[in-house]
Amino acid sequence: MKVGKLEKTWNKNVIALGLSQGFIEPLEATALHLVLETMIGFFTHFKQGDFSQKDIEHFNQSISARYEGIRDYIVCHYKVNTRNDTEYWHDVKSNIPISDNLCAVLDTWDAGKDITPVLQARGMDKYYPAVSWYCLLAGYGRFKNKPGTVDYDQKISEQISEQRKQVRRFLQATKGRFLSHQDALKALS
Ligand SMILES: Cc1cc2nc3c(=O)[nH]c(=O)nc-3n(C[C@H](O)[C@H](O)[C@H](O)COP(=O)(O)OP(=O)(O)OC[C@H]3O[C@@H](n4cnc5c(N)ncnc54)[C@H](O)[C@@H]3O)c2cc1C
Repeated sequence: MKVGKLEKTWNKNVIALGLSQGFIEPLEATALHLVLETMIGFFTHFKQGDFSQKDIEHFNQSISARYEGIRDYIVCHYKVNTRNDTEYWHDVKSNIPISDNLCAVLDTWDAGKDITPVLQARGMDKYYPAVSWYCLLAGYGRFKNKPGTVDYDQKISEQISEQRKQVRRFLQATKGRFLSHQDALKALS
């Protein structure tokens, strides 16, 4: 995919919207969100009659910042991936360029500190709040070893596999209480 965005979403009397405006990628399904935010941003200016060059630049900057906020979150998926089965995944992990903002979040997380103040100070929480970053980073199992303690990664992976076993036991124990998918559909007709 050719990804990227226009430098100016609003240029003179033209607004670019949707794919004509830019595209990041489908992983977090953000395209329609960007369409809506662009429309809402434009309508706000339109209603207020704000059409000066300064207003247009302000609008373009806010759209660019949103794209960049989303880009950082998407790029993080690739940066913290743990796959090493192909050259592709190895390359994206090692060579993908990351912004100062994303670098600051990862450094803070890896140091075991609270990322919320970093997200707030950099305005990144407007696009993805701390809880989204927790889901992403913890979901990828990015837990650095803590010096002087047991192998932290190992401990987490043991906990996850125990949780999986619990889910499997629960599903096993409850499946007999429900209709099969096919019988449930028949019961509806
Ligand atoms: C399978 C799939 C799943 C997706 N899921 C999501 C999702 O979950 N969330 C999300 O945010 N985004 C999702 N997207 C992305 C999102 O659908 C697109 O980014 C969005 O539809 C782009 O809108 P658009 O108006 O710019 O372009 P389009 O929706 O492509 O509209 C362009 C229109 O122009 C028409 N057209 C083209 N050429 C001409 C012509 N010469 N003359 C007249 N008409 C023409 C086309 O027929 C089309 O109707 C998904 C995309 C795909 C393909």
